[in-house]
Amino acid sequence: MKLSWKNLLLWSLPIIIICFFVWQGFFAPTTNENNNNIANSRMTYGRFLEYLDMGWVKKVDIYDNGHTAIVEALGPELGNRVQKIRVELPANATELVNKLKKNNVDLDAHPTKNTIAFWNLVGNLIFPLLLITGLIFLFRRSNNGAGGPGQAMSFGKSKALFQMEAKTGIIFDDVAGIDEAKEEFEEIVTFLKKPEYFTAVGAKIPKGVLLVGPPGTGKTLLAKAIAGEANVPFFSISGSEFVEMFVGVGASRVRDLFKKAKENAPCIIFIDEIDAVGRQRGTGIGGGNDEREQTLNQLLTEMDGFEGNTGIIVIAATNRADILDSALLRPGRFDRQVTVDIPDFKGRLAILTVHAKNKKIHPDVSLNIIARRTPGFSGADLANLLNEAAILTARKRKNSITLNEIDEAIDRIIAGMEGTPLIDSKSKRLIAYHEVGHAIVGTLLQDHENVQKVTLIPRGQAKGLTWFTPSEDQNLISRSQIKARIMGALGGRAAEEIVFGDAEVTTGASNDLQQVTSMARQMVTRFGMSNIGPLSLENEDTNPFLGRGMGNNNEYSDEIAIKIDKQIYYIVQECHKKTLEIIKNNRVIIDKLVDILIEKETIDGQEFRSIISKYTQIPQKN
Ligand code: ADP
Ligand code: MG
Ligand code: ZN
Repeated sequence: MKLSWKNLLLWSLPIIIICFFVWQGFFAPTTNENNNNIANSRMTYGRFLEYLDMGWVKKVDIYDNGHTAIVEALGPELGNRVQKIRVELPANATELVNKLKKNNVDLDAHPTKNTIAFWNLVGNLIFPLLLITGLIFLFRRSNNGAGGPGQAMSFGKSKALFQMEAKTGIIFDDVAGIDEAKEEFEEIVTFLKKPEYFTAVGAKIPKGVLLVGPPGTGKTLLAKAIAGEANVPFFSISGSEFVEMFVGVGASRVRDLFKKAKENAPCIIFIDEIDAVGRQRGTGIGGGNDEREQTLNQLLTEMDGFEGNTGIIVIAATNRADILDSALLRPGRFDRQVTVDIPDFKGRLAILTVHAKNKKIHPDVSLNIIARRTPGFSGADLANLLNEAAILTARKRKNSITLNEIDEAIDRIIAGMEGTPLIDSKSKRLIAYHEVGHAIVGTLLQDHENVQKVTLIPRGQAKGLTWFTPSEDQNLISRSQIKARIMGALGGRAAEEIVFGDAEVTTGASNDLQQVTSMARQMVTRFGMSNIGPLSLENEDTNPFLGRGMGNNNEYSDEIAIKIDKQIYYIVQECHKKTLEIIKNNRVIIDKLVDILIEKETIDGQEFRSIISKYTQIPQKN
């Protein structure tokens, strides 16, 4: 935590307040003591004058601006002892002084009451003063981003504006599986290391590179690797850190960042999640966001403000290039775009190889198999997978990672933590029928992926699971494949219906039905796979600035909308009917499989197929 004097002052605010109360309590009584405790007894002014005339008064001390006198007197009423008596004096008692002089009474005036009044005044003022100073500091802190973090209510908690790493220590060899992106960046390293190559022939060095790709694909890693390879400092900030409560804070942070970077050039500036500031301006419900726009404008200004040859390269990362403001993508700004995608089989193998280096993996385990089993995994997922497997291995006190731990880790990453299996009961039977329903439909349809395993061991939200062998990186899916998937997803509910009857079906199929509906809808509105014809009626994500389904700017008439609904209904109906057929026709096998599943709790794909093949023929999958 950064401790500046301002922070110190803010922290001391409560302490000072406490001190003030103690001070009040401690000093106040002593100031009163002079008047109250010593002179308990009182006397009227008239009586005092009489005493004076009688010559019984020995000494008079005047306090309180002449309002009070403490009189030392000796008289018959006082038991003939000298006593201190308090007398309130009238406002105009000037002749009293003359009288005292005349009677030769020892007179003394004490201005103490004045200083007490002064301290009382200070005491009363100190609290509001402190409060006002505190508020002024809070206000100033939140308004100048340069001086401190712009969080109004975080007392003294300072947040780093941006991180600077002098050496990232990451090299290109640490980044695997995204070779095209790497090649692009190798050139940038040359820009940083040998700018003269480019300037000699009059080439302008690019200022900005935009990295686009889903989370966990290694964008940050790649940016760090560039800095590491070129041996230059790495400044990083996340777009979301620019956006603050107060207008102007973000902009001043951008200024700060570029100022620091210029002092340290050549260097890399990395802006993560740039979409947080760089969205298209003037969009969204309720108009623009002033703060964000100012920040973006400042960013644009800064990028225009330095010459390409100063050795600063700005790398920004986002997973949504389509929503960025077009001004950001203009030449001279982020004119280069590099896409980093979810790795394919080869990429996954390369990433696994990098991350397996420092792990003890059993020689029987081939990274090939892991790479095959993990389509759709990002680099971060794969790194996580190997780490999870290592943790499981350590927990089991084994000395190297085997395929068991890898499998367990994959399942855990995809479906969540393993739960304890149900005891044998009606609901366990129902779940068994449901899962076997999915599995048998998947097995008997030619266009469906193979079953990998069926299990009744719960995981995450699911009470039972049917795993299908993931198909390798499919970009093109045929109509019959989608239909097969719809039927496979309906298999669970269909088995419930046939075996337990309509009245007994459960909510367990809700997730399946969601998938079914979404697949059928996409067939109609996106893939042109219905009677409506080859029309694209909906985009994947029509308006990113409105909530999903909120900005209903689909360009079709109500008539088409009714047709769409009808077609979706028709597809699902047809698939449902066929699925029920499959279940009915294979009831005997299903009963058999359910018994085995309840006993063993998990059946792997191989065994599953061999049981089925005793009763019926399994189609060859393509
Ligand atoms: P992003 O910034 O794209 O969200 P990161 O760069 O933060 O992803 O990746 C997170 C982690 O995942 C990295 O630190 C690294 O361990 C691992 N990782 C991701 N992609 C790769 C890759 N291509 N090669 C090696 N490791 C990777
Ligand atoms: Mg990142
Ligand atoms: Zn299901």
